[in-house]
This record gives sequence, C-alpha cells and structure tokens, in this order.
Amino acid sequence: MADFCKQCSIEVFGEDFGDLRGLGSPNVIYSTICEGCGPTIVRFDGSCTGKCVLKREAHSVPIKD
Ligand SMILES: [Zn+2]
Ligand SMILES: [Zn+2]
Repeated sequence: MADFCKQCSIEVFGEDFGDLRGLGSPNVIYSTICEGCGPTIVRFDGSCTGKCVLKREAHSVPIKD
C-alpha cells in the first residue's frame, strides 16, 4: 500500500486521497514516510511540512486546505 502526503497525492492523482490524514492528533505533526517525497513530517490533515512545502514555494503551486 502506498501512502502519499497531501501535496504528492494532488500532484500524482490530481486530488487529495488523504492517505496520511488523521495520523497522530490534531495540531501534532507526525513523522512518516510518503511514497512520493520520502521520509517527512505531515500535519494532521496529511499535508507535508517538508520538501513539498519547499517545492510549492519554488513553483508557486496552490494547495487547497
Ligand atoms: Zn509526499
Ligand atoms: Zn512531501
């Protein structure tokens, strides 16, 4: 089973499937592995706080919350 963070899910599938959503607790970040961007830290909603944020800033890709 492949798990993707929010950004990778949108990038790969065109929508957020929430594979990594709901891990840990609200307002607590969770260290995990994404099939798209590798070892990373995600927020409760599954959004990546690592490379994907840098990538988004670099390319100005809008991410819906
Ligand atoms: Zn990812
Ligand atoms: Zn990521």
